[in-house]
Order: sequence, then C-alpha cells, then structure tokens
Amino acid sequence: MKISCKKYILPLRHTFTISRESHDFQDSIVVSLEKDGKIGYGEATANNYYGVTFESMSAEIKENQVAIEQFNWKTPEELHAFLCSLSLSSFAICALDLAAHDLYGKMLGKPLHEIWGTSKETYPITNYTIGIDTIEKMVKKMEETPWPIYKIKLGTDKDVAIVEALREKTDAKFRIDANCAWTAAQTIEYAPLLKKLGVEFIEQPLKADNWEGMKKVKEASVLPTIADESCIVESDVAKCAGYFDGINIKLTKCGGLTPALRMIREAKSLGLKVMVGCMTESSVGISAIAQLLPQLDYVDMDGAMLLSKDIAKGVIIHKGGKVEFPQLGGSGVEML
Ligand code: MG
Repeated sequence: MKISCKKYILPLRHTFTISRESHDFQDSIVVSLEKDGKIGYGEATANNYYGVTFESMSAEIKENQVAIEQFNWKTPEELHAFLCSLSLSSFAICALDLAAHDLYGKMLGKPLHEIWGTSKETYPITNYTIGIDTIEKMVKKMEETPWPIYKIKLGTDKDVAIVEALREKTDAKFRIDANCAWTAAQTIEYAPLLKKLGVEFIEQPLKADNWEGMKKVKEASVLPTIADESCIVESDVAKCAGYFDGINIKLTKCGGLTPALRMIREAKSLGLKVMVGCMTESSVGISAIAQLLPQLDYVDMDGAMLLSKDIAKGVIIHKGGKVEFPQLGGSGVEML
C-alpha cells in the first residue's frame, strides 16, 4: 500500500463565523491509499480550536509512513487499531481511516452503507449552516440557499433577535449551535423563546467542561440539547448521558468512521439521539459521513455546500436535501 498526502486550501462561499472565530478558507489534508490499482481517499480539515494544521497532520503521517505502508490489514478496523498504537492525532487517524474505508469498499465493489448492512431508503436530511454575521447578511445567506432545515450559529449579544429576524423569512426548521458561548441561565432563559420560534434543539450551549451547568440545563430547558465540544472521543459518549439528549459526532475529532460506528451504537444503547456533523470538509469527507446516514437521527453534512469550489466528486446533495450516492464502492470519492 502506498500513502500520499496533499494540502488543499478550500475556498468558502462566505466568511464563516462562529462564536469564537472567523475564516474565508479552510485548510484540509487529503490522504490517498493506493493498493492493487485502487485508490481510497480520506480527509481531515485543520482546526484552530483543536490546534491541528495541515503541516502537523502531514508530519505525523510522514513520520510513520513506512510502518503504515507495510502494515498488512484486512479490514479498516485492523488498520485503525494499528494507527491508534502509533499515537497519531485523531485528525491524522481520521484521514487515514476514511481513506482505508473508501479503498476497502472500492476493492469489494460495494458502498460502505451496504457493507454495514444498512438500508438507504430512509435517512435524515442535512441542515444548512448559517454562520454568525449581521442580521441582514444572515437573512441574505439563508434566502440564497432555500433549505428545509437551517443550523444557526449563535453566541452574539442579540441571539434571540437573530432567530426572530430569520423566522420572519422562512418556515424551515431551525437548529441552534452556540459553540459553548452561553451560560446555563441564558440557555434556560432562551429555550422557551427559541422553541416558540420553531427551534428543534440547541447544540453545545455551554463550555465543554461545564457539566454542572449542563445538568441544570437538562433539568430546566424546554428544548433538547446535543453535545458537540463535550463529546469528542469514544469515552465521552457515556459521560454525555444524563447531561445531554444527544451527541454530535465529528469524524475528525473521534478519529474516523471506525470509532464513529462504535459511538453510534453506544449512544443508541444509552438512549441518546445521534447526529454526525462536519468540519467544513470537501466532498471527500462529506461522502464518508453520508455512508452513515441510515444510522442517524440528525446530520450536519453541508461542508461541501459551503465551499465556492469543491475538490472531489462523491455523494451529491440535491436541492431540498435528497442525497444521491455514487456507484463506485467505498465512499465513492473521485478527485477532480
Ligand atoms: Mg457544533
């Protein structure tokens, strides 16, 4: 097996702002694994909050390249366990694990969702994310992409006013993501107002380690809450039960599809709702997420839709959210 890593600077359609940062480009690593004439692709985007850059991921992979190339694996799970033993970051492991899954499926000539024995007849529709901006620009972004479900990023001094203004323009379902910006008191105060405005749930209102606050919110909030920054790796799933109503799994944070599949099973057994989210990946990463769709309650896989130029072909998300799966096996990724 041969590994290559390539840097991409993904251009965003709009400056993307959440409660703690703002950017116009998204750096990303695409890892390809080549074996017997087939190529599998995997991706992990860089992230300031988690201190991960293209350079850090690529250096980790290069350092272990010979060992990984020589490791003889039969299933992506075997490779994943080996990668964990090398102490790579979850982001680097994610890119390699996604590439291994894509390659594995391409070798079998079957899409991953089929290999996992799930049926793609019913699946949740992705939300479309509206980043923080002036109210006028947020309305404009929403009207530019008519969609049945919007995820609205909040964490400003006029959060309820933003949702009121957006509600005047659409009947779509809303989800809120405060990215750790609120206090427990604010969350409890906002919840009934947001519920009236057609909000379905609140994602990560409080700081990641504010478990005491989340306990209060869980008891008093009239809206369900979904953990994101509080649920990073497999061992966090059990911690979230009793504090949140669901979890948002990110492939880059947990280390790829292998742990994500285990997290989904565990969350369901604990009665938690399951969402998978993206980190502004191109169609390389999004096509991997899409394979999980039949197993999910909610999904946030609009990464490639937020780009002004994509770098790959794979799963297509049509207007209104219907997903078209590629014919190729694995995640079905082809680089453009
Ligand atoms: Mg989030």
